[in-house]
Amino acid sequence: MSRGEGAVGIKVFDRAGLVALAADLEQPSFRAGQIERWLYGRGVRTFAEMTDLPAGLRETLAGRLALPFPQIAQRQESRDGTRKYLLELADGAMIETVGLPTQDRLTVCFSTQAGCAMGCSFCATGISGLTRDLYPGEMVDQVSLVAEDFGRRVTNVVAMGQGEPFANYDAVLAALRFMNAPDNLGIGARHVTVSTCGLVTGIRRFAQEAEQFTLAVSLHSAVQETRDRLMPGVRTVPLSRLRQALSDYAETTGRRPSLEYALIAGVNDTDSELAALIAFCRDLLVHVNLIPVNPVAETGYARSPIARAHAFERSLRDTGTEVSTRAERGADIDAACGQLRGAQGARG
Ligand code: SAH
Ligand code: SF4
Repeated sequence: MSRGEGAVGIKVFDRAGLVALAADLEQPSFRAGQIERWLYGRGVRTFAEMTDLPAGLRETLAGRLALPFPQIAQRQESRDGTRKYLLELADGAMIETVGLPTQDRLTVCFSTQAGCAMGCSFCATGISGLTRDLYPGEMVDQVSLVAEDFGRRVTNVVAMGQGEPFANYDAVLAALRFMNAPDNLGIGARHVTVSTCGLVTGIRRFAQEAEQFTLAVSLHSAVQETRDRLMPGVRTVPLSRLRQALSDYAETTGRRPSLEYALIAGVNDTDSELAALIAFCRDLLVHVNLIPVNPVAETGYARSPIARAHAFERSLRDTGTEVSTRAERGADIDAACGQLRGAQGARG
């Protein structure tokens, strides 16, 4: 274990890791389940609170492993009730998490990496690069923290904060399983969405998972040249391969993935871009989410006029594709999609 991992302590483990830990300590395997519930059902901050574990075991655990919880470095609340948190992790890495309340829902947008290596040109996270992958417990803790702060149950989670979830696949799936378990946060699989920039191997693995998790894919252009320019990290994935993976996903799972499309004036909102998008979606089981691009100072990109979004919406619908235009939330505190930049931006 590196120093950094030592600080992350027990939060590095997936379920199998907790079972191995119990075996290592010559404990019956059901101890792993007990520890999991304390960590991710009750959100305890110390081993001493795990009162159904033998006292000796609690002491051994405390002697061996750190039990950190993210610290809130900054908390902002939007006019619409959205809250954005800048969190400091055990080794000093900084991430952002967003809580989006409505009357009957509380959605948490959580980060899967500190930063991101994919370098999308419209995204604040992409601009500063990758710090590190997050561990399973560090993802679950973001959700527990928001639930505590709002004093409400979290009903939905979306892996749409910082990072590319499928670049950290195993840890993300482990975190989703912890969140999904009825004895923990109990978030229904259908209320769990993972958004990817289009890593095809990840999409194919995700289709095989037993749980009915929801998939979203960031498309942003159905023209290869435009997409390569907007999303340099997935230049190696031709649109034809991505389309095939989406088609296979729908066939395997019977579920409809979303395609995210941030409309950028003069870049991906032209008539030829629309024609390419219509062709891409034809005969594909998808739901297109149009989002007016959120401003990020360095990019120089501007939002398409709302009339353009409506034209896209109408044309897609007329050609048989399910589509909606998403209302952005939290933009006044830079908490909207693509505006999460981490420490420097939040301070500066
Ligand atoms: N890395 C993953 C998930 C995190 S980004 C992905 O790219 O899908 C979450 C969503 O915000 C993605 O759909 C992403 O394309 C979108 N996004 C990034 N920057 C944006 C911006 N400036 N305006 C609107 N959406 C943006
Ligand atoms: Fe990474 Fe997603 Fe931002 Fe692209 S849009 S840089 S994949 S977080």
